[in-house]
Amino acid sequence: MTAVAFLGVGHMGLPMARNLAAAGHDVTVFDVVPAAVEAARDAGLPVASSGADAAASADVVITMFPAGRHVLDAYRGTNGQASLLAAAEPGTLFIDSSTIAVDEAREAHLLAEEAGHRSVDAPVSGGVVGAEKGTLAFMVGGSDEDFAAALPLLERMGGRIVHCGGPGLGQAAKVCNNMILGVSQIVVAEAFVLGERLGLSHEALFDVASHASGQCWALTTNCPVPGPVPTSPANNDYRPGFAGALMAKDLGLAAQAIALTGADAQLGLHAQQIYAAFAEGDGAGQDFSAIINVIRAAG
Ligand code: NAD
Repeated sequence: MTAVAFLGVGHMGLPMARNLAAAGHDVTVFDVVPAAVEAARDAGLPVASSGADAAASADVVITMFPAGRHVLDAYRGTNGQASLLAAAEPGTLFIDSSTIAVDEAREAHLLAEEAGHRSVDAPVSGGVVGAEKGTLAFMVGGSDEDFAAALPLLERMGGRIVHCGGPGLGQAAKVCNNMILGVSQIVVAEAFVLGERLGLSHEALFDVASHASGQCWALTTNCPVPGPVPTSPANNDYRPGFAGALMAKDLGLAAQAIALTGADAQLGLHAQQIYAAFAEGDGAGQDFSAIINVIRAAG
């Protein structure tokens, strides 16, 4: 049994923390939002009085925060809170599962190391359903030893766990994967709109492309038109799924990584602009496949 401080019990964090507790770990949680604290209490999880308080008596500290600034503030103890790194016993394992920029993740590793701790970046994909079912995919960055130490806990929350390399490379894998996803969802939507203009039925295009070289997740699982894939968000008024705001955030992180490295990724950058505009309006709360409605209206 491991003493786990689970900090950030929002949409993803709460079910993840519950899965760890259900596996017999000694889980204490904290969140800065009272409603999240209340939901955790209702789920039977003990709540600490602060993040630092939870970290002080933990073997492992897991963070599941909205963005990189939340992680770095909590690690450093800036923005009116006590430092998690200072509060924890030396040698504590820090697992950050938030989706943050690669350079922010590397900064977090460095801060943890300087404070005498171990750390991995371990962002996830699989959404709230994956978090609830314990089937998340984890992409992990860190040393072999720290990965091995994190693995037994990650296995209680995830179905597929990949050690991607050293510090920050879990986030690198996440950002690259979501760039593929964001771009492919746009082009699948463009193909359906083009097909409509040419008089091609959705079913015919789906039947061809899903068994041909156009086959991809954005088509065969997240099909942007209702009908061909009954479980896709298009059949449910584009309720997410994966919200446009999250795709806009993730492609913003991809754009940061592109700027950092100088990689020539023109489609990724264009997709970032398209989702940023989409998320300024109704798209923020819709599944990102609703981008098809923007494309259809534009031409
Ligand atoms: P969320 O906003 O529902 O939850 C984040 C929680 O962190 C909030 O409750 C917030 O109050 C809390 N928090 C922020 N700063 C804190 C601090 N210093 N101490 C304690 N709590 C703090 O977000 P979410 O949907 O659960 O996503 C969490 C992360 O997972 C994000 O980085 C997101 O990009 C990523 N992610 C989300 C999904 C998804 O489908 N929701 C899928 C994959 C990855």
